[in-house]
Amino acid sequence: MDKDTNIRFLKGVGEKRAGILAKLGIFTVGDLLRFYPRDYLDWRKITPIFEAPVGEVCCIKAIVNHKPHGVKIRKGMTIYKTVVTDGSGLMDITIFNSKYTAESLEAGREYLFYGKIEDNYRRRQMSSPMVAPVAGGERLVPVYRQSAGINSKYIEKLIKQAYIQGNDYFTECLPASLREKLCLMDVNRAVHEMHFPTDEDMLSEARRRLIFEELFIFRIGLMLLKGNRKETTPVKIERDLTEEFFSLLPFTPTGAQRRAVRESMEQMLSQTTMNRLLQGDVGSGKTAVAAALIYTAAGNGYQSAFMAPTEILARQHYNTCVRLFKDTDIKIELLTGSVTAANKRKIKERLRSGETGLIIGTHALIQDDVEFNSLGLVITDEQHRFGVKHRGALGSKGDRPHTLVMSATPIPRTLALMIYGDLDISVLDELPPGRQQTDTFVIDSSKRARAFNYVRKHLDAGRQGYIVCPLVEEDESELASAKNYAENLSRGFFGNYRVGLLHGKMKASEKDDVMSRFVSGETQLLVATTVIEVGVDVPNAVIMVIENAERFGLSQLHQLRGRVGRGDEKATCILITDARGENARRRMNIMKSTTDGFKIADADLKMRGPGDFFGSRQHGLPEMKIAMFTDTPLLNEANKFATQTVENDPQLAAPENRGLRSAVAELFKKEYVLN
Ligand code: ADP
Ligand code: MG
Repeated sequence: MDKDTNIRFLKGVGEKRAGILAKLGIFTVGDLLRFYPRDYLDWRKITPIFEAPVGEVCCIKAIVNHKPHGVKIRKGMTIYKTVVTDGSGLMDITIFNSKYTAESLEAGREYLFYGKIEDNYRRRQMSSPMVAPVAGGERLVPVYRQSAGINSKYIEKLIKQAYIQGNDYFTECLPASLREKLCLMDVNRAVHEMHFPTDEDMLSEARRRLIFEELFIFRIGLMLLKGNRKETTPVKIERDLTEEFFSLLPFTPTGAQRRAVRESMEQMLSQTTMNRLLQGDVGSGKTAVAAALIYTAAGNGYQSAFMAPTEILARQHYNTCVRLFKDTDIKIELLTGSVTAANKRKIKERLRSGETGLIIGTHALIQDDVEFNSLGLVITDEQHRFGVKHRGALGSKGDRPHTLVMSATPIPRTLALMIYGDLDISVLDELPPGRQQTDTFVIDSSKRARAFNYVRKHLDAGRQGYIVCPLVEEDESELASAKNYAENLSRGFFGNYRVGLLHGKMKASEKDDVMSRFVSGETQLLVATTVIEVGVDVPNAVIMVIENAERFGLSQLHQLRGRVGRGDEKATCILITDARGENARRRMNIMKSTTDGFKIADADLKMRGPGDFFGSRQHGLPEMKIAMFTDTPLLNEANKFATQTVENDPQLAAPENRGLRSAVAELFKKEYVLN
């Protein structure tokens, strides 16, 4: 048996169970062993019955008085009862319908019982406790993620079986010198410790080793993916036209905007390729920074490409740029999926000839037949929306053009470093003047009418607003469906107002129509699904209501809320939810208490895994099994040593890096093949 052995070869895994395991991502013995527990129960801390607090989960070590006897309470349901004692007191044990557990208990023998302490007015009691023999039972017991038809115990048994039939399943991928330097446990030891921890210290060493491994390999993978940075470029930017551009702006740039442009400019003038991440919270004015660089590129004879993740956003950028550059001779074009074939051909022709100075668009820009005459600058908005694969695609249409990626997802710096690697980072940490914090309220649906009245007041005052609901069609019955919902609103509550509807299933041209009517103020209220999430900018919109707010993640709520409060006036965001759960309540409280994107992102990252954080499938990053991106010291270490390793051995060709090389290839196999 080795790590690639199919899971079906283990006893107790039939076709059906194999199917369930597959859903958990377990296909081979190796997958099984890398399926780490999500938690541990401490069975070593024994509480005397006498002291066991009612309502809490405890481990009791006690002798069984008599063999449990069964009482049939109805057809197919038997309750088994017995009494146990540990000298400090008596405790009732009730077992529901598990003949197997009941019969395994023998009178006069001592067992461990793990469960919640109840009080049945006579004495303490445990219902359906977990039971284990005393020998070997006092330990940290792993808890695995379960799935219908498979429980934690079952997975534990399979893992035991795998270790009976084999050992040392994994080849060490970390170079020995590195392991020594950082005192990292060997891989097989670490994996074994995860499932059968000796004690907390060993467990935490095992975790440290495995987290490091994952971050390290991940980081190296991204570095190789990107190739070497800091190369010279034939793009000659010799004149800095920033001040000239600033004079075209209808506002005074903020200090942060000036700084970001200056940082970019210095690099572009130095003729090494710029690879920069521009981070700025929603509304911080990233577009103006992008436009400044475009202006200078154009003035130096270079074309720019500006890519956005959605059609709405691309069109918005197009409109903004057309306005900003109206007194210049920069020719601007928009290329999206909805442009007719004939027009596309003409647009591409003008791009190839060099007539077009700036092309703005969606994914359509990275199609093969889009060619440039002199591409000098590539800008991507809301970068995290594009997969790893798409990252380099636009840039490769020119000869080492400068790139700027913009992101409103304020990720912690260490994480940004991890994901964006050698990108330089500029941060817009200052909002344009006059902005006021958006007030946020959380209400339940019984107060919806009041919220809507409040919306009406704003509309009456000439303002605009959004109502956000999660879905388009009524495919999940209890959810507000945008379509029905909008129709009801426009007949009922907002019968005297002009209501627009925007959702993801509309054709691009319809979306554009709806959006431009909202931008022009023709519609007062926009009922929308999350398509408005990204980047949409209508400063006159000052109120937003979000239905089923519990359905959204924190970062998403933050993005949504960022659609209001973009002008001088105070804005309001009302979250409607009837969810009572702990998690939902925590999220709502965070939204109420802060508008700081970094704080929200941090909280989000801690509450969910990094995978979810980036919207699992959208980010295009490989899945992490154990790594927490919140572990800053370990992240820094992984970053540092990954950089060193790749600098010393860019091809990972040295014998001691061989294991590393295949581990990287393995992690990125769906995205990328090492050459
Ligand atoms: P984001 O960073 O979210 O992409 P935008 O670039 O869309 O932000 O800018 C948000 C709004 O703020 C726009 O209406 C823009 O015109 C305005 N804006 C940007 N910079 C300034 C500034 N320095 N002063 C005043 N308004 C600004
Ligand atoms: Mg934006």
